[in-house]
Amino acid sequence: MLELPSLLALLAAPAIGSFLGTLVLRLPAGEPVVAARSACPHCHHALAARDLMPLLSWLLLRGRCRHCAAALGGFYPGMELAALGIAAAVVPLVPAAAVPWSCLLGWALLALALIDRRAFLLPDVLTLPLLALGLLATADLAPEALPVHLAGAALGWLGFTLLALGYRALRGREGLGGGDAKLLAAGGAWLGWPALPAIMVGAAALGIAEVLLRRMAGGGHGAEEPIAFGTWLAAAIWLLWLFGVPGV
Ligand SMILES: [Zn+2]
Repeated sequence: MLELPSLLALLAAPAIGSFLGTLVLRLPAGEPVVAARSACPHCHHALAARDLMPLLSWLLLRGRCRHCAAALGGFYPGMELAALGIAAAVVPLVPAAAVPWSCLLGWALLALALIDRRAFLLPDVLTLPLLALGLLATADLAPEALPVHLAGAALGWLGFTLLALGYRALRGREGLGGGDAKLLAAGGAWLGWPALPAIMVGAAALGIAEVLLRRMAGGGHGAEEPIAFGTWLAAAIWLLWLFGVPGV
């Protein structure tokens, strides 16, 4: 039997995914995110509430605009499904008390990963609240561990900033972004300082795997082409939160 927080998380997930889709599209462009998508991008017909039900509207209308029948694309239903997938993964894997916190973490990481992938950007408006949420979640779930998680946030930011400075001194150019330092600090706030090496190793391994896959696909990926490292930081934080940090 599902407990109430799990049920609420699953029910709310598609609508939250829709909101995350708006964040992903509008935050990098500096557009306001308060207003949800409101019109068909093709015929500019205003969309009514019945056209905006997450997943359901898309299924009922077969992904087409009610007015001009233009294909509306899979981005929003994809986001709605992904947010639902995160809640569905969380419910069996974490204790009931941690379900709402875990969903918030997963949904925020999903938005950050996609924004970094599309725009090479990790907005402060997402990373800094995520850091604060990690400390709040710790205070709620394991208050005795708060010093370990505070140290995680501080060391995560400091460690990554020193790494970025070292990289710049060595290579003479920027290779690592300041947003990455804040995301690693957020990871330290959620997982505690002992998890920091695992987050970095996991993210680096995923980033290297991306480079190798692109090379195998014949993309001719050179060292100059940037990797959205924040995407892999987000993925590593998420996997370590769900499955635990090896050896910690
Ligand atoms: Zn239309």
